[in-house]
Amino acid sequence: MKPRTNTPDCVTTNDEGREVTTITLKRACNGCGQHLGDADNRDVDDHGNLTDVRAECDHCRPLVELEAAGCKTWELTPRSISRVDWDLDQLGVYAKGYWQEVDGKLQVVGLRVGSGEDRVVAFWGDWVVRHPDGHFTVHKAPAPAEQGATA
Ligand SMILES: [Zn+2]
Repeated sequence: MKPRTNTPDCVTTNDEGREVTTITLKRACNGCGQHLGDADNRDVDDHGNLTDVRAECDHCRPLVELEAAGCKTWELTPRSISRVDWDLDQLGVYAKGYWQEVDGKLQVVGLRVGSGEDRVVAFWGDWVVRHPDGHFTVHKAPAPAEQGATA
């Protein structure tokens, strides 16, 4: 697949002396929300649904490859944590909310998966990865500076 174009915003001055900004619609990754470049025909399938473009995303490509290799992945968010916890419970894996002090208050900031030496901690936005042999790793969320980067 050919690389996406990434047209920068263009500011021009119109006949009335006003500044007009012309933008090209951008496609955001459906895995992490980072901008991938200009939206084009590849972004919509024959039924009008948005396509899965995570393989184009530097951050999400490793996850796509892990899934292809038979791993199960979950994105951890405050909305998904109870479902992730339930899924892990079904697999017989111990998981527990991970608490930390934030602005002087103890609150849940993620999920601790497993027990003992092998435990891993996923924070909001991270992905929990269960490998075919049953061990877990965490795929970190993109650094805040990368979020929404358009360069
Ligand atoms: Zn992504």
